[in-house]
Amino acid sequence: MYGDADEPIDLDSIEIPDLSDFELDPDFEAHYDLLRTCREHVHQVHHQNPDLEILWIARKRKSKRAKPVKPAMFSSDAKVGKVLQQQLTWNIPMEISCLRPWADGGTIASDFCKERCYGKDWKQNKPETVERSEKNEIIRQRPDFAQLVIGAFAEIELRRIPRLGKVRQPDGNMEERIISAPPSLFRVHGIGDFDSERYIRAWIEIAKALRYTTFFAYTRSWRRPELRKALRELAALPNFHVLLSYDKRSGSPPLWKNAPTALLLDFDDRGPRARKDTRVVFRTQYFFVLQYGRVRNIPLPVMRKYDGRLVCPHEQRIKYDKGTGKALPPDVTCFDCKVCCPSLRM
Ligand code: SF4
Repeated sequence: MYGDADEPIDLDSIEIPDLSDFELDPDFEAHYDLLRTCREHVHQVHHQNPDLEILWIARKRKSKRAKPVKPAMFSSDAKVGKVLQQQLTWNIPMEISCLRPWADGGTIASDFCKERCYGKDWKQNKPETVERSEKNEIIRQRPDFAQLVIGAFAEIELRRIPRLGKVRQPDGNMEERIISAPPSLFRVHGIGDFDSERYIRAWIEIAKALRYTTFFAYTRSWRRPELRKALRELAALPNFHVLLSYDKRSGSPPLWKNAPTALLLDFDDRGPRARKDTRVVFRTQYFFVLQYGRVRNIPLPVMRKYDGRLVCPHEQRIKYDKGTGKALPPDVTCFDCKVCCPSLRM
């Protein structure tokens, strides 16, 4: 249920923690000021461009009172986490990013990646996420894209309970101050990939501004030499984990200190030898066989490691609902596991 996107929102009526009674760590204060400024900007843009549905205004049933505003430009992802709204995903259309042919005919996606891509089914299975990614495409072409993402995220960030910490004073006494916010996890690109230097630099700006948030992204953009410099800078940020994804037909990613690799296996759970810097191995989520004239889902055998490297716990074994035959989400989420996002602070 969407609220009236063009109805003005009274910013003051939305509850955010009042920090005026606390002494803030100077760094944290600057962080809060930036969030507030970007938040005001995002509200203005939201009212000027209601079709983009940057924000989502929920209304209580039988009541005109608006519930807190939510950032509609982000999607939720069962794999990333299921706690509150603190695990979000940003998506853009695959056709315009990873699948788009460059002048030399190459694409960011490898041939195997194109065959194997789970996003291909989303038009049927997750039409609302695909529709959202198309609106996000318009948002990311705007010059204020970074500010809009920061401002939309501020809707969550400003309402989270900040953490108190002790800071030593010059006289040696310890003083209680607000020094950080609870952890949040942000996956960049459930579908889509980094396709220009400008876009990567916008994410550098976003990650620097949202310093209490941990970001992670799997990417094949290393296949485009013109994007490598900016991608490497993104990977060097302490709160942005870039994993260079590869498969049997992608070629081998560059060896970068701050960017481990992620290997994607074939449908039969085979692939190339895992590189030493491979942090995680992904396998196919579906295994179909023809049985008695019908296509059936067969549970995959458990595989915890491939060539000595960890198989993503989320994909170690696929469970199916006995009644419907549909795949069930495994219990482990990225928020619990943290293999791909080790800087996530709890
Ligand atoms: S290995 Fe862990 S953090 Fe990485 S995708 Fe799988 S569940 Fe998420």
